[in-house]
Amino acid sequence: MNQQSSKKIALVTGGGSGIGRSICLRLAKRNMHILVVDLNIDAANTVMQEINENGGSAQAFAVDVANHQQVAELFATIKKHYAIDILINNAGIAHIGNIENTTESDLDRLYNINVKGVYNCMHAAIASMKEKQSGVIINLASVASSVGIADRFAYSMTKGAVLTMTYSVAKDYLSYGIRCNCIAPGRVHTPFVDNFLAQSYPDNQTEMFEKLSKSQPIGRMGKPEEIAGLVDYLCSDDAAFITGSNFPIDGGFVTLNN
Ligand code: NAD
Repeated sequence: MNQQSSKKIALVTGGGSGIGRSICLRLAKRNMHILVVDLNIDAANTVMQEINENGGSAQAFAVDVANHQQVAELFATIKKHYAIDILINNAGIAHIGNIENTTESDLDRLYNINVKGVYNCMHAAIASMKEKQSGVIINLASVASSVGIADRFAYSMTKGAVLTMTYSVAKDYLSYGIRCNCIAPGRVHTPFVDNFLAQSYPDNQTEMFEKLSKSQPIGRMGKPEEIAGLVDYLCSDDAAFITGSNFPIDGGFVTLNN
């Protein structure tokens, strides 16, 4: 891919797994060049390969989004070749615990990846979007951004921050043609959920899977492809009137659980 190509450039953090992977595959089908960024380079390479073998174009990068210097270097390298049109801040980690059993190091780890990681990428991307007077940023928030969920103290803190960072950036860059929105999924069946079940409920994973599925009034978990479909729409010109918004996609979790 060279700079002259008419393809849009989309960078997806955490693109190696789950929701991020589905977003990469979906946007690649829209004829975008995909920059798959992940801490896990093997996973990022696999997604890159899947795209390239199916007629799309992608590159993979090993980056820890929590590392300000690494993110700055990534964007500086990319800038030599492309201007990023779309930034999807998807990389994130989970944590179970209330305020008493959340340690200081848990809190710092969650903050560094889920909050600072989003800051690092937006901070690094915004100047070139400003220059072009266009850009789309989509952040992965959560239902935990806006309702109380048991035992999610640190995670909820980070996803609340993702929601409000989205509002702030949308407001500050409105006049530069940059749209910034976030998506708030309920539970989506990804390795994120499977790892959580394996670690927290090693003896009754199937039972807990059913229980978690039913916590969505619609009776099941979301599919990564369903989140990718919403991302696809929000990136498109059909969504040109949408900025500073949060999109629940949660099987009725926030509004129908009564
Ligand atoms: P996942 O664990 O399947 O994938 C996350 C990816 O992010 C992995 O490939 C991982 O290697 C990468 N990653 C983690 N830390 C990183 C770092 N520091 N730097 C770069 N990459 C890193 O997760 P998922 O379920 O697809 O979740 C993706 C996003 O969606 C997360 O932000 C999560 O909070 C959010 N979300 C998920 C759910 C859900 O139920 N799965 C619900 C609401 C919100």
